[in-house]
Amino acid sequence: MNKKGTLYLCATPIGNLGDVSSRFLEVFRSVDIIAAEDTRQTVKLLNYFGIKKRLTSYHEHNKAEKGEILCKMLEEGKNVALVSDAGTPAISDPGEDLVRLCIERDINITSIPGPVALINALILSGLPARRFAFEGFLSVNKRHRNEHLKSVSDDTHTLIFYEAPHKLKYTLADMLQAFGDRRIALVRELTKLHEEVIRTTLSEAVKLFEEKNPKGEYVIVVEGAEEASGTEAFWENMTVKEHVEYYTSAGKTDKEAIKLTASDRGIAKREVYDAYHEIIRGQEI
Ligand code: SAM
Repeated sequence: MNKKGTLYLCATPIGNLGDVSSRFLEVFRSVDIIAAEDTRQTVKLLNYFGIKKRLTSYHEHNKAEKGEILCKMLEEGKNVALVSDAGTPAISDPGEDLVRLCIERDINITSIPGPVALINALILSGLPARRFAFEGFLSVNKRHRNEHLKSVSDDTHTLIFYEAPHKLKYTLADMLQAFGDRRIALVRELTKLHEEVIRTTLSEAVKLFEEKNPKGEYVIVVEGAEEASGTEAFWENMTVKEHVEYYTSAGKTDKEAIKLTASDRGIAKREVYDAYHEIIRGQEI
């Protein structure tokens, strides 16, 4: 039986050709074919590194038929590199569907890691980076945009959005309305000559672009919603009796239940004991 080939998901530079790794070049030189979102962009990359390779297009509008063709090649033992216009394929870029197709067909997939705008924007933002949610692009449809923003307005994770410059002003205004005023970072032209990080608030950012037009590619990093101030303890609406019984009904002995109740409420065991036994004598506490 024919040995299947491998699909290499290759991240390409998001502005600086110096970010290409030696492993990326090795793969680009060794594969049988490169599937590219925009073959004109990829030709520039090939020319810069002096690589001659067969190219084919794989994009949003041909991904169904082309996915089948690429899978057939992979099943025949050919190795395929997949690249998007810039950055990591399958992140707000076509590629996700091809990955799924290859998984269904039991075709090997591996990744050649490299630039991705969202991670670099996050680490430069100064906003909490331990937990974050990537939200990609907002829809151009006003209702869908607002629904999307509303659905994440209580999320306490740092939120990351991609946006085109001509829509930035509207997006910032919609965000201000949906989230209220929050800290944000506008990260522009990453890895390029005019790389810039504007650390500000949503209201200040809206004002800023009343005076000038945004230029270049932007990532918007938004502070998450404030954590709710302490969630209510499960026993808060229980009497002391109900609290002790909660534990006894869960299999604890009276002694253990009294100890746990005292610890939950931060009161002395004797106080719980007295209250519990008065209840047994028929006196509600
Ligand atoms: N797959 C890409 C990645 O790995 O980041 C993202 C592709 S998506 C079609 C393009 C969006 O990514 C842009 O609209 C912008 O929001 C963001 N982006 C790409 N390159 C960027 C850069 N150099 N600086 C800032 N944002 C960038």
